[in-house]
Amino acid sequence: MSVDILETPIEYLKGVGPQRADLLKKEVGIFTFKDLLHLYPFRYIDRSKFYFVKDITEDLPYIQLKGYISNIQLHGGKRTTRMTARFSDSTGIIELIWFKGFKWLKDAFKPETEYIVFGKPNRFGPKYNIAHPEIEIVNPEAISQMSSMQPVYSSTEKLKAKGLDSRGISKLLGNLIPRIENHLQETLNEDIISQLKLLPRKETLINIHFPEEPHTLNKAIARLKFEELFFLQLSLLKTKTDREIKLKGYLFKDLGDSFHSFFNNNLPFELTNAQKKVLKEIRSDTLSGKQMNRLLQGDVGSGKTIVAVMTMLMALDNGFQACIMAPTEILAQQHYKSILKLLNGLNISIEILTGSTKQAERRRILGELISGKINILIGTHALIEEDVSFKNLGIVVIDEQHRFGVAQRAKLWEKTSNPPHVLVMTATPIPRTLAMTLYGDLDVSVIDELPPGRKAIKTIHQYDSARLKVFGFMKEQIKLGRQIYVVYPLIKESEKLDLKFLEDGYESIVREFPLPKYIVSIVHGKLKTADKEYEMQRFVKGESHIMVATTVIEVGIDVPNASVMIIESAERFGLSQLHQLRGRVGRGADQSYCILMTGNKLSNDAKQRIQAMVNSNDGFEIAEMDLKLRGPGDIQGTQQSGIVDLKIADIAKDEKILKFARDVARNILEKDPELSSDNNKTIAQTFKKIYKHKSRWSRIS
Ligand code: ADP
Ligand code: MG
Repeated sequence: MSVDILETPIEYLKGVGPQRADLLKKEVGIFTFKDLLHLYPFRYIDRSKFYFVKDITEDLPYIQLKGYISNIQLHGGKRTTRMTARFSDSTGIIELIWFKGFKWLKDAFKPETEYIVFGKPNRFGPKYNIAHPEIEIVNPEAISQMSSMQPVYSSTEKLKAKGLDSRGISKLLGNLIPRIENHLQETLNEDIISQLKLLPRKETLINIHFPEEPHTLNKAIARLKFEELFFLQLSLLKTKTDREIKLKGYLFKDLGDSFHSFFNNNLPFELTNAQKKVLKEIRSDTLSGKQMNRLLQGDVGSGKTIVAVMTMLMALDNGFQACIMAPTEILAQQHYKSILKLLNGLNISIEILTGSTKQAERRRILGELISGKINILIGTHALIEEDVSFKNLGIVVIDEQHRFGVAQRAKLWEKTSNPPHVLVMTATPIPRTLAMTLYGDLDVSVIDELPPGRKAIKTIHQYDSARLKVFGFMKEQIKLGRQIYVVYPLIKESEKLDLKFLEDGYESIVREFPLPKYIVSIVHGKLKTADKEYEMQRFVKGESHIMVATTVIEVGIDVPNASVMIIESAERFGLSQLHQLRGRVGRGADQSYCILMTGNKLSNDAKQRIQAMVNSNDGFEIAEMDLKLRGPGDIQGTQQSGIVDLKIADIAKDEKILKFARDVARNILEKDPELSSDNNKTIAQTFKKIYKHKSRWSRIS
């Protein structure tokens, strides 16, 4: 086999050499020709057009001017903080401004010399300026080469210092392309390319770096996005197909005593249509002979617990055990209590296992698990410890799955020789595109309907200065018999300070709401489990009026009588977290409120988040907004998914291409699950190449 020229180390490219090679590796992870080829521009700018100073407006993005530089001045006394210069053309004057690089720049410009200045104009009072412009001397050759689609590559300070700014990188690509263009092989099947009218690969890669004209550039971008998303979806769907082929699923053939007597005697309410629909989907999965891997998405309070319970009963009726894993001790305790209550009188053995289970108790539980005496085990991470084994685990329910890592989930998988069915529940609604990618190998069910009789939560934004008014409102609500949460942020980086805020906040609340008329609870992660539990219980039982807490109460806590959620420093929380917190109220029949307290000065982003909360109660809408504001990289769970490695496609923006790519991948796998047909040779090869290096975690979710 011939050596692949694309694997050539980058130092062998003309213009690179050992020093630059070193930087390229360290700074941007470019080791080979191929890596450089796949460093795509993140934007294209028009460098063919010149503006006049008089035509500048605030909303122009990047502009290019021709004129003279004079009046260079350093500001800030001994320690220069700023340098300015005057730029003029025949129509007016603007200021150029720098905040660093003075030493080098202050003597760099010659008078009476015409320069090209490029940058983004900012308005400052009645005048305009350009900060850190790109500047070069006018020369006819340079101007004739200026493209209307000049690629912009992201670079770093260190690379720039070695001449590898955007333009330097473009030059390297100019050296690279002629050397490799005849070695660029197709990565997609002929029929896909012709059916979808995609640009061939060689043309695509040349055009992405050196666009000929806008239409071709757009086609090149579209092809690369499609290709990237297609192989990602192919991998996810193949994981799913492989699993379906390889693994047998336990059959939950009969609905028996447990299920029926629960349904007839214990079910405390009529199921919503959405709950019924999901139960049907689960029923059909567990009858299919395939192993179920299903993600259940449902907004906070949509009633996922009852679905989990009825699913576990299906397992029990067929002689299997069931377990449910929750991310925190508090949540596990709560599940335990509510499930005990729900299944009261049904002669089902339910136990709880957490980190704080006493040794002797733990030994007893482990024994009864293996003997099969225990039917349902509820717990935390403690469930996945080595020595926990079941007699015949039929189904695993994982609650609030985003709290668990992939590896932790995989451990549960290993608990039986044949993997159990898996139902993963999340109350963090995930935008559809993200779900397709993050959970692309799972089946997805959605509960898109809240139980009847819930009033929409009213969300209000208040500045800190309105605190007295908020205290007044709290008193009114307590008079009406309601309970109130007051939540403070607690972030690792600022933990000490945050704890102090929380404690100060608690004190001021106790002062405003004194004993014996008012009882205030406090819960945070630093308290001992027993104290936490005691305080929680007081609130759950309605013995305290106000619960001051950190986000430990974020997940799952269910106190229907609590109808006011006050979130302190709301600007510091992410959107999905705000929505989660808000979901702690609105669980009973009373009108509920969420009050977002913020400082007076808010960043633009914070304003948008607060506004989104005030405007919408819909978790899916909020999630879409979150994705748009933050991008996929910051959303919980995405770090481990590989989608943050996407080079050109954008999950938030390329929804259409993503769906399309998924459909194409699905069609191919339906006909050829092993990708072994001649027709699919090219994509099979590409697929192997892409995923050769990536370790394939055994996923159960
Ligand atoms: P989540 O989806 O957030 O886990 P839960 O399962 O805790 O929601 O349910 C929230 C509340 O709604 C609980 O008090 C539960 O008893 C109640 N609930 C669930 N389903 C229904 C229903 N169909 N009708 C009325 N109340 C319901
Ligand atoms: Mg829940």
